[in-house]
Amino acid sequence: RLEIKHLVRRYEGRTVVKDVSLRVMPGQVTCLLGPSGCGKSTTLRMIAGVEMQDSGEIWVDGALICDTVFRVPPERRHIGLMFQDFALFPHLSVAQNVAFGLSGDKAAMASRVKELLNRVGMGRYLESYPHELSGGEQQRVALARALAPRPRIMLMDEPFSGLDNRLRDGIRDETLDILREEDTAVLLVTHEPEEAMRMADEIALMRDGRIVQQGAPYNIYNAPVDRSAVAFFSDIN
Ligand code: ATP
Ligand code: MG
Repeated sequence: RLEIKHLVRRYEGRTVVKDVSLRVMPGQVTCLLGPSGCGKSTTLRMIAGVEMQDSGEIWVDGALICDTVFRVPPERRHIGLMFQDFALFPHLSVAQNVAFGLSGDKAAMASRVKELLNRVGMGRYLESYPHELSGGEQQRVALARALAPRPRIMLMDEPFSGLDNRLRDGIRDETLDILREEDTAVLLVTHEPEEAMRMADEIALMRDGRIVQQGAPYNIYNAPVDRSAVAFFSDIN
């Protein structure tokens, strides 16, 4: 499970993440929903460990992985990433891409890579290269790569937004099904309320650097905390 407590981040004197606390349970999907510029990606980068918070704490499965004095490096956080601009390595085959973050016994690695690619429906493409695949196929490989080191947490920053509508729903549903089966805690950034209503076990509404409300989708829909929460859902019917 992922817990973050009172995260704060400033850029050149401007505080863009003001106070973000969140909890995501294993096997559950929490959608981080909010307008452009409210601090969603910055929050995910701090959790991933590619950027340092100014204050606050990050915990994974009950262990502190980062506060202002203590910091576990990104590769040891058991956190997987799927970001829209987080592309496959173009010079590596599909199998090599998935194996990239793995280490240890060669035969065990090869079988893990095969198992994962079968799982995402890409078992026939082991030797293909990214440029030979469609966007949706690349996304499936990216999922297999992210799952390879068995992350406890998966952070997703609108990873499907580059895909066309028809493809997107299918791949997103399959991806979240696999993550639920693996009992991974998923934090999924979106700015589409409809997507959040459909996918999320919990929604965290973010505005101007703060979480203004967190709860089950229909609780938020039925009892929005304020006008901005109402506005998020005003397009849905
Ligand atoms: P979007 O939905 O458009 O992706 P977001 O919620 O992900 O928005 P962030 O990318 O977290 O928003 O950015 C929050 C604010 O912080 C923005 O105003 C942005 O301009 C600012 N910001 C982000 N990164 C930096 C940086 N490295 N230096 C200075 N300002 C930054
Ligand atoms: Mg963003």
